[in-house]
Amino acid sequence: MIISIASGKGGTGKTTVSTNLTLALGDRVELLDCDVEEPNAHLFLKPEIEQTRRVETPVPKVDLEKCTFCKKCQEICRFNALAVVGKQVLVFSELCHSCGGCMLVCPEKAISEVGRELGVLNFGNRDGIRFINGLMRVGEAMSPPLIKQVRANANPDKITLIDAPPGTSCPVIAAMNDTDFVLLVTEPTPFGLHDLKLAVEAVKLLGIPAGLVVNRADLGTDDVYRYAEQENLPILLSIPFDRRIAEAYSRGKLIVEEMPEWREKFVGLFEQIETIVNRSKAQLCANS
Ligand code: SF4
Ligand code: SF4
Repeated sequence: MIISIASGKGGTGKTTVSTNLTLALGDRVELLDCDVEEPNAHLFLKPEIEQTRRVETPVPKVDLEKCTFCKKCQEICRFNALAVVGKQVLVFSELCHSCGGCMLVCPEKAISEVGRELGVLNFGNRDGIRFINGLMRVGEAMSPPLIKQVRANANPDKITLIDAPPGTSCPVIAAMNDTDFVLLVTEPTPFGLHDLKLAVEAVKLLGIPAGLVVNRADLGTDDVYRYAEQENLPILLSIPFDRRIAEAYSRGKLIVEEMPEWREKFVGLFEQIETIVNRSKAQLCANS
């Protein structure tokens, strides 16, 4: 089972939920931190990093000796990553999406591929819990290719938890796509509700079952709860605004470590997700 943990905006407690859920479930899960622009799950889970691997993506390199400057490569590239200017072919590798189209259309076989560094993958472990995060190279503009690399290393024998990037654009879609469940973390404030609505629309487009965790649940207004009811989104866990939780967070500690009674609550959260996923799979089978 693959569960992505997402939020419409940063700072709602998404990583708090993903890391506590991970530790509560123990070595039957793995955590993939796909927030590759600013991964921070490792600061709380504290895995021992055992291996770091550099990740590249192929981009074109033009051999000007063979090139006839026909512009076919420039014409096929919908990302404007190539420009034929006089007797030069300029490659804007930061814009390249590595589709390979230019190489295929070049009649002179003048284009070969070279690697552009996207970032690194870190592989770690904490008490048998497998951990992977991606860290984007400074200056790199596109995170989805690195997110896909993090996900490509998932172990199908484990329950995979994905800490998705915040927001609702391409990176979060890359993290949520092809998962069994999206756990949305929100807070009962007008900003929380605004961004939750955007996230729910994205999840609906992907057709994945979803549920909510309301963080700092006793602050703010009732609007998030009303919206959840209206959208038929189950609230699977409420985390109150509690001084002990805030203190644990500020010391880089997990709630389930500092307040063991929360371990059961996070296990209960997973059991509810499991029930919804099984029900949804049964429904799909019945409809097919
Ligand atoms: S398609 Fe090939 S030959 Fe034509 S401009 Fe591009 S690199 Fe040169
Ligand atoms: S590989 Fe695709 S995206 Fe990259 S330059 Fe060639 S056509 Fe453009």
